[in-house]
Order: sequence, then structure tokens, then C-alpha cells
Amino acid sequence: MNTRLIKLTGISVVVLDLDDTLYPEREFVWSGFEAVAVWLRERMDCPVDPARRMRELFDSGSRGRVFNALLAEWACPHIADWVPLMIDCYRSHQPIIRLYPDAKKALTAWRKTFQLSLISDGMLKTQQNKLRALGLESVLEPIVITDQWGDSFRKPHPRAFEYVESQTGHRASQCVYIGDNRLKDFVAPNQLGWRSVCVCRGDGLYAAAEASEGGRPEFQIETLSHLLLCK
Ligand SMILES: [Mg+2]
Repeated sequence: MNTRLIKLTGISVVVLDLDDTLYPEREFVWSGFEAVAVWLRERMDCPVDPARRMRELFDSGSRGRVFNALLAEWACPHIADWVPLMIDCYRSHQPIIRLYPDAKKALTAWRKTFQLSLISDGMLKTQQNKLRALGLESVLEPIVITDQWGDSFRKPHPRAFEYVESQTGHRASQCVYIGDNRLKDFVAPNQLGWRSVCVCRGDGLYAAAEASEGGRPEFQIETLSHLLLCK
């Protein structure tokens, strides 16, 4: 792991990923489980704390089918009806999440000098709720949630990057994309000639992902405090 200070010069636009780059996505998952637990308790007598059991199921490899697994082990007769409603509750809840301390510091410093923007995948409403909870709606411009165009425009599709470049009016080489997922985050910025930085804190949900073809970031850092950006 590279721990030296990375210095990038000639930068005008700093474009950020959201989940596991600016805040720990795991906190969103936990927050969602709490919301679903409230929903469940209104409808059934739960044999154990539902939020705690959902966290255990998530950590034991049932990621992606936690609600199904929970209702199944409780022999709940409403699985088919309730799981879609639980997913909806999870995705639409108002999350309680916080920026990583290094992200908070970096954003405060960078916004004085650079245009800050965001490109994120994920459900539009869910991502908007996260941005509001983090107080970032008025800090980032433009904000691109790729689902606003449909899921075929998710990263690594270049459309969001081309859009940000055209909106800011800066050259590709003046833009840097900072993300955490080596599977998809850096393919398009590399293709377009952007700078790219992967923040690998080790606790992210995609921390172990291998770089995809053409998706190797230019630099890798452990926290945003290791990144020095200059105009
Ligand atoms: Mg991410």
C-alpha cells in the first residue's frame, strides 16, 4: 500500500465518487437495516432484534438477500409480499451517515480552490438522500447520478464523465476522478485522459476488487489526507 503524499498539479475540477469514497457505505447499510427493523416491528413480533440479525446475515455472506433470509428463518408467511416492501423501505429511508473525517477535511480545503463535482451510480432517490444527509447538495456541482439516464449509463460508461467535462468547461487533463472501486471507477476517466486516484481504506465494500481492463487508477492512496492537489 502506498502511503507517501501524492501531488497532482494542473487540477481545476475534482470529481468524486460517493459510496466508500466520501463516507462508509457500511454505515448506510446499517442505517437502512434500522429503518427496515422499525417497519418490521410494526407488523410482527420479532423473536430477536431484527437490525442486529440483519447485520449478522450481511456479514456472514447473505449480502443481497438479507431480508429474504431473515423472514425465512423466522418462518414468516409474508416473504413474497414483504421483501419488495422492505427493499423499498431500505432504499427510500432518510439515512443517518457521516463523512469520513479525512473526506470532510479534504472537501473543506478543496472547495476553496477547485470546482467539486460528483459522479455516482446507484438509485437516484437513494443517492440524493445520502447527499442531503451528508450536507453535500450545495457543495458539489454538477451532481451526476448515472441512474438519471438509466442503468446502462452506470460506470464504466463514459457519458457522466463527458457530461461533467463539458459542464465545467475544463480540459480532461484538468479533471481528476477520485473513487474506490477498481472494477468500474477508473475505466472512463482513463480513456478520456483524466487523472485518477483510488482511495483504498481497506474497510470499503469493494476494497478487494481487482482492477478491470484499462481500469487501473493512476495513483492509490489510503486516505484523502495523502492527496495534495494544486492548480
Ligand atoms: Mg464507491
